[in-house]
Amino acid sequence: MGLLAKRPSVKGMCRKCGQKVLTTSEFETECRNAGFVKDAFTGKFKVPIGRSTKFKDNPAARQTQYNRIEEHRGYQCNGCGSVYCLNCLYTSARNHPSGGKACPKCGSTFKHYE
Ligand SMILES: [Zn+2]
Ligand SMILES: [Zn+2]
Repeated sequence: MGLLAKRPSVKGMCRKCGQKVLTTSEFETECRNAGFVKDAFTGKFKVPIGRSTKFKDNPAARQTQYNRIEEHRGYQCNGCGSVYCLNCLYTSARNHPSGGKACPKCGSTFKHYE
């Protein structure tokens, strides 16, 4: 028995689906492990042109692989601090007027989960 009557929200878990979410550094590690490199100018991950043999002839598989990693990336609400995975935000969150997604709980915007 713990001291707290109420179970604290589990760190690093999506509030909706309960799956583990990736922090920015975990996300970047996963991308690198999958053969993607970070573009120094945009900060986005991409496949190095002419260097990847794994995805060379299959851009669709490459995109699928990237999406699979990205949908587990965590996003934290700027208002209430709730953490969601990207997949749940896509499927259940409304769009925020400023762009991006609005928190299903309090309506605030999100930042990357660190
Ligand atoms: Zn989720
Ligand atoms: Zn919120």
